[in-house]
Amino acid sequence: MSRLAIDAGGTWLRYELSGEEEACGKIPSHSMGLGAFIASMVENHGDIDAVAISFAGQVHDGVIISSPNLPVDEPEIEAFAMARYGIKLRIENDLNCAALAESVYWNETSLAAIYAGTGLGSGIIEKGEILHGWRSLAGEIGHVPYKKAPFRCGCGKDNCYELYTSGSGLQKWMAHEGCSGTPDLARLRLDPKCRRIAEMFDEALTSATATVVTLLNPKIVVFGGGVIAENPDVVQKVRERIGEYALAASCEDLRIEMSGIENASLEGAKLLLDTI
Ligand SMILES: [Zn+2]
Repeated sequence: MSRLAIDAGGTWLRYELSGEEEACGKIPSHSMGLGAFIASMVENHGDIDAVAISFAGQVHDGVIISSPNLPVDEPEIEAFAMARYGIKLRIENDLNCAALAESVYWNETSLAAIYAGTGLGSGIIEKGEILHGWRSLAGEIGHVPYKKAPFRCGCGKDNCYELYTSGSGLQKWMAHEGCSGTPDLARLRLDPKCRRIAEMFDEALTSATATVVTLLNPKIVVFGGGVIAENPDVVQKVRERIGEYALAASCEDLRIEMSGIENASLEGAKLLLDTI
């Protein structure tokens, strides 16, 4: 028997097959839905008995309830895999999977993973378990209200943290302020006309982190995602200024670290496989 871990991200669908058969690879996320992908894996690799998926969207109870960036062919994916192939399947939000992998990596049972890539999101581990909320929507720090912006977020509102401290937010501010080139924080900091965008990024990330820390009191905050990986200096900026924003008692002995995992979402999906 073989087991399949999938990371369905906004750009790539990565997979790792382990057990009797071993394989790994990636395909463009928009080339097929998860139902079709599982069908093709079963066709090519036969004896798959468990599948775990890290999904870049909202999922609840084995059902995809919202998918802003990915095509969905089988919303009730857990029921589909069981009915069609007799395969046990677990699906989790990608930030929850990343947080799970970070908690194992850092060996901490109280942890917040805050990731800034195209968007901004967080996953919370409390007593070693993912904090889900009623409909598995907990952790959406990117859409917590912050300051009014002159444009709208993907969620429809105009005041989200994500508008200030994410890759998509940087691009929107650059277009608005007439700053050209790639959305690179180091480059923006050197340009007197565009420096403000990088400063707003730093402040919003510190404020968003302080909100998570004050509300949920994690022992460790781990930063990840493409924008943070390319600009690791922002982690130190948050360390230096978090005390100005978060409750003092919540900052005592708080660790703020940079992710050391190459693909935390896929690693999280592999951990989910162990729970099936
Ligand atoms: Zn939003």
